[in-house]
Amino acid sequence: RAKSMGKGRFEIFHKDFHNLAVNAMEMESSLRKALEEKSFPVWFQPIVDMQTGRVAGCEALVRWQQADGTMISPADFIPMAEETGLIVPLGKLVLEKAIAAATTWPCTRQTPYLAVNVSAPQFEEPDFADMVADCLTTNGFPAKRLHIEITESLLFSRSERAMATLQRLQRLGISIAIDDFGTGYANLAYLRDFSLQQIKIDKSFVAGLPDQPECMEIVRSVMELSSCMGFSVVAEGIETEAQKKILQDFSCSLGQGYLFSRPLPEQKLLSYFR
Ligand code: C2E
Ligand code: MG
Ligand code: MG
Ligand code: MG
Repeated sequence: RAKSMGKGRFEIFHKDFHNLAVNAMEMESSLRKALEEKSFPVWFQPIVDMQTGRVAGCEALVRWQQADGTMISPADFIPMAEETGLIVPLGKLVLEKAIAAATTWPCTRQTPYLAVNVSAPQFEEPDFADMVADCLTTNGFPAKRLHIEITESLLFSRSERAMATLQRLQRLGISIAIDDFGTGYANLAYLRDFSLQQIKIDKSFVAGLPDQPECMEIVRSVMELSSCMGFSVVAEGIETEAQKKILQDFSCSLGQGYLFSRPLPEQKLLSYFR
């Protein structure tokens, strides 16, 4: 544990946050203020081709920077941002920052793709697809290199607007990935009804490899399902060589996790590429 924390010195989150923001209204107003000041750095975690070690893509992960320089984890403020609707302007800021950063990544034969998380309330905004298309055009960023990560629950709701947005994004050439796969709903009908490009196996299943037989079986069947349906698969939360090996044995080619790298600030990511 101590050893794996060594590389993680950028992941020091504000310990007293819960005490500081016990009051929801207080938190909402500080979120608003932080949005005006744009104090939300976007960090990136490499997604690695486990066979070659090449960086296949990077996931943008937002942080909330405090006046003293410490960072608040998205797990602690995204739910509030969703409830208050502030996720809409925050998500736009993240997308703009992430795309601007990704245009500076070194060009190779296969420049890494950019994955951005999008919450249901953002996806349900009538002009979400337009906003994404504008952002691509402004930066001259190819739609093919953008992945949008959504959750199973968004597809489960089947709202008309979300379905239209989904189609529109895919027609632009953007890939849709299902984040935290397996933690949402047991009903897999949406896999049949929507064309999707990628699923990301939730880290709770990866954590149980190779010791928990249930996790082994779940990951094995998700790989089989994905291969039948033509999805690419990313395994999330890989922390050990043993997990990496099992996943490779299951023919999972893409991996993300502390074993490869923690989320990195933009400059550190550029040195990681080198
Ligand atoms: P996620 O999209 O599933 O992102 C992966 C999370 O797993 C990240 O947490 C990442 O730091 C963490 N992780 C990666 N590798 C490992 C590992 O090996 N072990 C463990 N224990 N964890 C690992 P993070 O950055 O704290 O983000 C948490 C969640 O917050 C994300 O989960 C995502 O749902 C949400 N989030 C982050 N950024 C955004 C954003 O810009 N917009 C929206 N809507 N949600 C975001
Ligand atoms: Mg994600
Ligand atoms: Mg998620
Ligand atoms: Mg996830």
